[in-house]
Amino acid sequence: MNQIHLIVDLSLISNGTVSHRTGLPLWTTVLVKPVLKLALGHWPTEQTCLSIPFFWYRNIEATMSNNTSHLLEDAQSRMADIYERLEVADDSRHRLGQPKRIHQASLSVRMDDGSLRVFPAWRVQYDDTRGPTKGGIRFHPNVTEDEVATLSLWMTLKCAAVDLPFGGAKGGVCVDPKTLSRLELERLSRGYIRAFHDVIGPDRDIPAPDVNTNAIVMGWMVDEYAQIARQHVPGVITGKPLGLGGSIGREEATGAGALLVMDLWAKRQNKEPHELSVAIQGFGNAGQNFARLAHHAGYKIVALSDSQGAIYNEDGLDPEPILRHKNRTRELKGMVYCGDSVCDAAATEMQTLSGDELLQLDVDVLVLAALENQITDANADHIRAKTIVEIANGPISTGGDQILQGRDITVIPDIVANAGGVIVSHLEWVQNRMGDYWSGDTVEKQLRQRLEREANACFDLADEKAVPLRTAAYLQGVRRIADAMAQQGTQGYFSDADG
Ligand code: NAD
Repeated sequence: MNQIHLIVDLSLISNGTVSHRTGLPLWTTVLVKPVLKLALGHWPTEQTCLSIPFFWYRNIEATMSNNTSHLLEDAQSRMADIYERLEVADDSRHRLGQPKRIHQASLSVRMDDGSLRVFPAWRVQYDDTRGPTKGGIRFHPNVTEDEVATLSLWMTLKCAAVDLPFGGAKGGVCVDPKTLSRLELERLSRGYIRAFHDVIGPDRDIPAPDVNTNAIVMGWMVDEYAQIARQHVPGVITGKPLGLGGSIGREEATGAGALLVMDLWAKRQNKEPHELSVAIQGFGNAGQNFARLAHHAGYKIVALSDSQGAIYNEDGLDPEPILRHKNRTRELKGMVYCGDSVCDAAATEMQTLSGDELLQLDVDVLVLAALENQITDANADHIRAKTIVEIANGPISTGGDQILQGRDITVIPDIVANAGGVIVSHLEWVQNRMGDYWSGDTVEKQLRQRLEREANACFDLADEKAVPLRTAAYLQGVRRIADAMAQQGTQGYFSDADG
């Protein structure tokens, strides 16, 4: 039977929109959540993805049609000013105005109980002018095509901003992976590769880990690709386990790179690490590595949060025992995901906070390492940090950014702050292609060289043009992409040739 994948925005139910449009009393619509729980086997999130038969869709569509978010539109709105400043040719503006290719698939996965579930999945290749496209794969219940496309645009800008020979892509599956067993997760990961194997490849499009995917998941994926291709192709995926052709240093690269950029920034402000207090939102791969390394470097980490809550100690806390606690569950799902929350690790000298309270702490540096749109025009007025480091992609909306700018809060933008991950992914890809592997020192030296050069160039450009760091980073990236597009031929070039 034909299936439609519907992202249901449950806020439309709680805020009464559905009740208003259907004329049903509000109390009847609140039953939707328990009904979804029965159908899905877990409580639905605010934006839940459902696979439903086509004939149901027609009725539901009428009541819930404006459920799509506008992340890509918001991200694109930041580009107009950049095009103007760089006098980018219309051809390039048109090409960067939408993704080059959007691939969609439905992944049918056999559950352990014998039932079959179907998960919507995407691979979006935004632009490949500067090289094969590159970008992670996200497993999350809120994944939508709009989100994946937006993340692929940011990957395009990031790879260009740090001068890697890559375009940008992203992948995603609308799934709550923590409700799956390990075997179900493996089947889903292999299913993703079966669905998209013909559009990825070491010279075409190279996936990597992102939210809720990691080296274990990449290992299953690279193995599935090899089985289909009937040969070893380690360069098709980065962030793999070392035994399958991964690179030393990839696991911690995003956190290490963000620390490198923060160090550079602190030096420019004549600040020593011990003088700076830091709060970190998001304690996954990127946030944990950043927290651990920043603590060793002497920064005072005062607060940490994950999706369950936050912990705080104004005298500073050591992330290592919290990390050990979070990673303690080493069985079943714990082998793939951390089972416990940071809150369970709170010792007596620590205070627990809500996630929102962490964002509003009076700290020198707020590090955002979770998801998009954490600071928007709804809460930007309450932020008290002096500097924000974006490890997550797109954690501040355009509206939120403008408010922070007006309040003189410095934002070190994602496309530079979190570029350490893709830089070491590039090093992994180079090693795979050479068939030879480097020491940790070599990887670290190459990461440092590229990131210091590109971050310093961005900081200098911001000073020279008197623009925010995000504008400078976008100028740096878009200029390189527009130059490459111009070198392929522009309207001006062909008009001149005619004349
Ligand atoms: P992850 O899945 O390992 O961790 C995500 C963390 O965020 C988890 O600890 C989760 O509990 C937490 N979280 C989710 N919602 C939250 C909320 N509302 N408040 C507080 N914490 C919350 O993912 P990751 O790989 O660490 O990625 C995090 C971010 O960094 C994403 O935006 C990702 O795109 C970006 N990023 C990651 C890499 C990488 O190499 N892993 C590279 C570049 C950018």
